[in-house]
Amino acid sequence: MGRHAEIAGAGFAGLAAAIALRQRGWSVRVHEAAPTLRAFGAGIFIWENGLRVLGALGARAAVEGGAFAPPAYETRTDGKSLSYQDINGAHRYRLLTMTRQHLYQALLDAALRAGAEIHANHEVAAATPEGELVLADGRRFRADLVVGADGVRSRVRDSLGLKQDRKRYQDGIIRVLTERGPLRGGAWDHIIDFWAHAPRTLRILYTPSGDNVLYMAMMAPLADPEAAAIPINPEPWISCFPALAPVLRTLSDRGRYDVYETTKLETWSCGRVAILGDSAHAMPPTLAQGAGCAMMNALGLAVALERPEPVEDALRHWEATERPLTDHTQRRAAEIAASRVLASGMAWDDEGLRAALHIPTGTACGTSTPAPAVQ
Ligand SMILES: Cc1cc2nc3c(=O)[nH]c(=O)nc-3n(C[C@H](O)[C@H](O)[C@H](O)COP(=O)(O)OP(=O)(O)OC[C@H]3O[C@@H](n4cnc5c(N)ncnc54)[C@H](O)[C@@H]3O)c2cc1C
Repeated sequence: MGRHAEIAGAGFAGLAAAIALRQRGWSVRVHEAAPTLRAFGAGIFIWENGLRVLGALGARAAVEGGAFAPPAYETRTDGKSLSYQDINGAHRYRLLTMTRQHLYQALLDAALRAGAEIHANHEVAAATPEGELVLADGRRFRADLVVGADGVRSRVRDSLGLKQDRKRYQDGIIRVLTERGPLRGGAWDHIIDFWAHAPRTLRILYTPSGDNVLYMAMMAPLADPEAAAIPINPEPWISCFPALAPVLRTLSDRGRYDVYETTKLETWSCGRVAILGDSAHAMPPTLAQGAGCAMMNALGLAVALERPEPVEDALRHWEATERPLTDHTQRRAAEIAASRVLASGMAWDDEGLRAALHIPTGTACGTSTPAPAVQ
């Protein structure tokens, strides 16, 4: 008889796991707490590692159509241009920007095509190491594998009592989508990392994300409630970035503020339960790799479960194989968040982009041998 998985959370991690398991003959049921299957209104960066995983999941073509390939990444701090770096095109750093909904729809379509059963309005309350998923309404489902892909405030993880280290940082980000309008062509096609230190410390990561879509990730310290406010108060932002005033005045009640957070678990599995994505390794978005790592680890999970051994052992193998790179990426992302070093015009290098340059397990040339331990 085929094996069966119950998955908590239909985010990027849960959907990627559902597809990868279905591709390997598992039956899969996904439980999503939200009333509808969709992503919230923001943009997202997907580096080449994520694109490779999307290729293996049958979603890359759909993601590439409608995504944006910015030709450069610039940093402008206090009105001065501090760094300029070509990306995409002939350059080997490949990064696409898009709306979250665009990425989400491509994964959702691929999951449904693959035959995953997905339920909205199914809030998960707990899981057991023996392989039971418990819904908030009391229903219980047995499985060979349970996946806790229910995000940073994971009920599955917490119900298992896994030892965890969670940290918040001094900054957070308002994410908002708007129209590009006349902001197109030349430098307006670049990703521009605007920083200001006076009259206060703020940052706007200006990101064209589609034909007429502009994504702005607006970093404000937690200690600056005026700038972190939702609805967005344009005044503090305009005082730092007057050139963006026409766009900043249109944002009104859009956007959502999230503080940078890190979650680190002692172990990514407990019996037959795998903890995946942000529930296992939330990280500050400074390397734009949270979803990239979540999707890599989802595919790596399904590959590890091909091993002819009990699920519990395959999960330990999965963690040993995939975790070192995620830990490195999380640690580096946290250092960048804590130091705000991006304001100094740091250019991307191979060390910072180790995950982006990695060939993930389960992709055409991907390896499933453990990556070397990294410092
Ligand atoms: C400001 C910011 C910018 C970011 N930018 C990028 C970027 O550019 N590139 C990148 O790769 N990553 C980025 N990330 C990280 C990325 O968003 C996350 O790593 C990614 O969304 C993790 O996916 P996930 O599926 O694990 O979790 P989520 O996306 O949080 O999905 C979890 C799902 O589980 C559902 N759920 C929650 N509780 C329950 C429950 N009890 N029962 C059932 N379902 C439940 C939720 O509704 C949700 O659908 C960013 C993060 C932040 C905060």
